[in-house]
Amino acid sequence: MAYKVGTKCVQSGWKPKNGEPRQLPIYQSTTFKYDSSDEMGRLFDLEEEGYFYTRLQNPTNDYVAAKICDMEGGYAAMLTSSGQAANFFAVFNICEAGDHFIASSSIYGGTFNLFGTTMKKMGIECTFVDNDITEEELDKCFKPNTKAVFGETITNPTVSIFDIEKFARVAHRHGVPLIVDNTFATPINCRPFEWGADIVTHSTTKYMDGHASGVGGCIVDSGNFDWLAHADKFPGLTTPDESYHGIIYAEKFGKGAYITKATSQLMRDFGSIQSPQNAFYLNLGLDSLEVRMQRHCANALAVAKFLKASDKVAWIHYADLEDDPNHALAQKYCPNGTCGVIAFGLKGDRNTAVKFMDSLQMISIVTHVADSKTCLLHPASHTHRQLTDEQLREAGISPDLIRLSVGIEDVDDIIADLRQGLEQI
Ligand SMILES: *Cc1c(COP(=O)(O)O)cnc(C)c1O
Repeated sequence: MAYKVGTKCVQSGWKPKNGEPRQLPIYQSTTFKYDSSDEMGRLFDLEEEGYFYTRLQNPTNDYVAAKICDMEGGYAAMLTSSGQAANFFAVFNICEAGDHFIASSSIYGGTFNLFGTTMKKMGIECTFVDNDITEEELDKCFKPNTKAVFGETITNPTVSIFDIEKFARVAHRHGVPLIVDNTFATPINCRPFEWGADIVTHSTTKYMDGHASGVGGCIVDSGNFDWLAHADKFPGLTTPDESYHGIIYAEKFGKGAYITKATSQLMRDFGSIQSPQNAFYLNLGLDSLEVRMQRHCANALAVAKFLKASDKVAWIHYADLEDDPNHALAQKYCPNGTCGVIAFGLKGDRNTAVKFMDSLQMISIVTHVADSKTCLLHPASHTHRQLTDEQLREAGISPDLIRLSVGIEDVDDIIADLRQGLEQI
């Protein structure tokens, strides 16, 4: 039976058989035992599926990945130690030194550094483009060595909406997959595969875990991209892997090729797997994801309306507001609401923002976003404090931007705290 996503977040993944534990077991084991040397050898040759070492795969993680895969409507998935690891592997699985890819410039700062600075040192070049680039302009960014296009469904921290269909269309015209970081929307509010994305990533650290308890990531493959049809572009998937006796992933594993390669090659070599204990917490968080997202969105819309009406607020971005420039895109991709994150600026200077934040009583200042407790961050004073106002603007962040992550408390109390904070400035 095909369940709705709100049922999948509770029921998918671990399905106990007769007499087995109701709750997902934590396979707290580095290794797995086999009766014969031959059986173990076949696992190392990827001739059989099974577990041998938790640096590559662990059953607890795989049950949780299977749940997220089901929620996204994907074919295969894997957990990673963080969202950063997920985005790195998602690209590095198909790009090598000498290759190029294209990414939206409005992506999360950590991903922007990874793509623009660290991967550059590995010989992989990234061209950043505006979310509102035209198809013709985007076409011109492609080179013979371009291997992927990347964007975020809802950008962190500017909360603008990525036009998935537009980017998918252009990526496919050039024979490359579209990778979408779906962290802020979650599969409750948007499922990028339904709009043509090929691969989805998550920082599960955010809404999926939902309680600020564990850092983690996930990669989901739709299985839709035909690697063999563009074999010359993706030799890692379409030519023999000598480290596994010359198997060809795309031929041997079909729709599972991309995740199998990322697990058996990148996890083996880089070892950024999520701990099974964290995967267990993540799974608990997923059970309530739909109810929490509904509450986050309802609370955030009420808070956004309150802020918009305040004469202390200079500007606000929240795509669920009807007059937001991204509202039409939000209605298309996230008809049930976007997320709980709001970006806004106060009239005044950097110090006004600091005074406001320091006046808050319940809402806390933390380097986090998208969990159950309302929190905020002022990039100019925190994550980006080394930058001048000019440099901040170049990074696409206005110096007065406050990122407010609306939690699931009673919205009256959230608004009351904001109101008394605004009165102090
Ligand atoms: C936080 C975040 C990341 C990085 O995830 P970590 O789990 O912190 O490594 C990537 N993408 C988005 C959209 C994020 O919000």
